[in-house]
Amino acid sequence: MGLTADARGVQVPCGQCGQTNRLRYGAVERETRCGKCQAPLPAANAPVVVTSAEIFDAMLAGASLPIVVDFWAPWCGPCRAMAPEFEKVARNTAGRWLVVKVDTDAVAELGQRYRIMSIPTLAVFRGGREVARRSGAMPASDIEAFMGA
Ligand code: ZN
Repeated sequence: MGLTADARGVQVPCGQCGQTNRLRYGAVERETRCGKCQAPLPAANAPVVVTSAEIFDAMLAGASLPIVVDFWAPWCGPCRAMAPEFEKVARNTAGRWLVVKVDTDAVAELGQRYRIMSIPTLAVFRGGREVARRSGAMPASDIEAFMGA
């Protein structure tokens, strides 16, 4: 359903042996191999679930790719309806974008910091700064057009 992340990078499971590998933010676009079995690892091809403001800040500061964030919450129907579209975007832009989900109930600090007034809200960050924002559920094609992906 989503990838996990910590302050250093995104955790991606190896398709061959199941070992969790970390793609460091500074090299998140680079093709790499599993540290255990040496099979090629996929790029981050599912939404990355951010569970704290500290992790989000580390991602913003370090990521070598542009980031698109879906600010959402589990009780929001339009958010849930958009989730599979956002997953499509993550697959379509793997290796070119970091596709990120922030639950504004679970990580209220981020919702407040970015003054998220309605959900879903999508925001694009480049070089650590927010450069675009749009609210409302959209199909994958509209999300990618909004991103300029
Ligand atoms: Zn492996």
